[in-house]
Amino acid sequence: MCLFLGSVVFFPSCKDDDKIPESCDGIHWEYEGEDGPSHWGELCVGYEDCSGSVQSPVDIKGAVADATLQAIAKAYATSKTNILNNGHTIQFNYDSGSSITVNGLQYDLLQFHFHTHSEHLVNGASHPMEVHLVHKNAASGNLAVIGVFFEEGAENALLAHYLEHLPAGHDETYTSDDTYTAADLLPAGTGYYTYSGSLTTPPCSEIVTWIVMKDHITASHDQIHHIEELEHENFRPVQDLAGRTIKSFN
Ligand SMILES: [Zn+2]
Repeated sequence: MCLFLGSVVFFPSCKDDDKIPESCDGIHWEYEGEDGPSHWGELCVGYEDCSGSVQSPVDIKGAVADATLQAIAKAYATSKTNILNNGHTIQFNYDSGSSITVNGLQYDLLQFHFHTHSEHLVNGASHPMEVHLVHKNAASGNLAVIGVFFEEGAENALLAHYLEHLPAGHDETYTSDDTYTAADLLPAGTGYYTYSGSLTTPPCSEIVTWIVMKDHITASHDQIHHIEELEHENFRPVQDLAGRTIKSFN
């Protein structure tokens, strides 16, 4: 709030009152309330992309078939177990040495994590859970994220193995020498939707090629419910497509 006592007097401090903090260090964000998604872009300068026009997630509709697209080539090795509860999601950090190839560029798998319910919608419909497999191109720093929807059904074997070990407290981890492969989180079908977007959490960087798989995988009601209890609801509302085209590969 500023009070202008005279038109010729300039109060530098007034300008600062409404200024967005420069540093995002220690900035707290949430999925609801004053620090919720509609305010992320105002929390600090480094989060300003959250107010941008190339944001994710989106409601996937009107996708256009593109004959130049190809199935995503995956080279997934196994990883030892390193699970983190970062306060916003349950994240499986992945050992180096696994990658996908998108448009001729290699992206290395860094981690995957879960959102309950899904962040992306398809023709307005949500799913109870969505996993994001996050890959990074070393040269550009750009990301390629594969999103896979869960529907309720048969138990997921990978989740069954780790469910009781998922860390419940913020910044808690669970590590073990047990190995698994991220390939177990991919559906049988290779069809996908793809579009240019962003991280769905602050800083919402607009550096992501999204690849949302058309086929779903399953987890049991209890598995999904358990993860939702750990994460609470951690989905960002869908963002305006703002003229972007969603392409489809069958
Ligand atoms: Zn995510």
